[in-house]
Amino acid sequence: LPSVYRLKSVQSNLHQRGIGGLGAEFADIFRRAFASRVFPPYVTSRLGIKHVKGMLLFGPPGTGKTLMARQIRKMLNGKDPKIVNGPEVLSKFVGDASDVHVIIFDEIDAICKSRGSTRDGTGVHDSIVNQLLTKIDGVEALNNVLLIGMTKRKDLLDEALLRPGRLEVQVEISLPDEAGRFQILQIHTNKMKENSFLGHDINLQELDTYSHKCVTDVICQYFLAAARTKNYSGAGLEGAVKSATSYALNRQLSMYDLTKPVEEENIKITMEDFLHAIHEVQPAFGASTDDLE
Ligand code: ATP
Repeated sequence: LPSVYRLKSVQSNLHQRGIGGLGAEFADIFRRAFASRVFPPYVTSRLGIKHVKGMLLFGPPGTGKTLMARQIRKMLNGKDPKIVNGPEVLSKFVGDASDVHVIIFDEIDAICKSRGSTRDGTGVHDSIVNQLLTKIDGVEALNNVLLIGMTKRKDLLDEALLRPGRLEVQVEISLPDEAGRFQILQIHTNKMKENSFLGHDINLQELDTYSHKCVTDVICQYFLAAARTKNYSGAGLEGAVKSATSYALNRQLSMYDLTKPVEEENIKITMEDFLHAIHEVQPAFGASTDDLE
């Protein structure tokens, strides 16, 4: 396996169930990395290989790393994810080989910074790192533990954590490109579309059909919005949708007598609300995948 993959964008509907919800590119990497676990143990022992033990998801904040990790765990055993911090948890799973356990270390840089990099003089940090590495090596005998580490700062991590036998498959999740941003906007406006809260000047379905062609002024406007969201993360886009909604609700507020039932059909989120929101919510810092195209 090549050890570092770069996903151009995570643009699938992460709220869908199943591997398709992770994006085809990621799903492919994931499947290959963990393919050996699907076979009975004697197959891998006859091949003379060890399972891939862990994966590191790294990239800027708000790009969906946590969402992906949750989705992976759900996919594997259909249970609610356990997100854990700290080395002691690894031993909890020893001996329980009936199920695949996915252990997710969110913000793993908090416990596994390069040894020698902290200057507290106590050596406590270095010993935690050593303990974590030893525990990771200790789960060797278990076929049922997958480790997933996540970080915004891969550069801070102790190199030993990333060597083969530990978090050996590394997937960079960068900021979404234009097509990705469009899909993320779709995900976060889906409910309001379903319930007819989107103004008539917004037609995401139509935009889908016409793909990247600006066929009408309305569609051009959409792409103006998409271009303006360069460098936005998924979380940034979600924030922009929330902000657009607040403009629309606020506009209607003055017209309502709140003692009476709300006439929902009057609440419409318009293109202008989105454009206002995009001005208001600042893009994430960093390079968008558009810059790579
Ligand atoms: P951090 O590194 O800051 O912990 P993260 O990369 O783990 O961030 P998440 O916590 O997964 O990011 O994402 C935050 C929120 O942003 C999600 O709950 C989701 O609503 C939205 N979001 C991020 N990426 C996507 C995406 N690709 N598709 C849909 N929503 C997304």
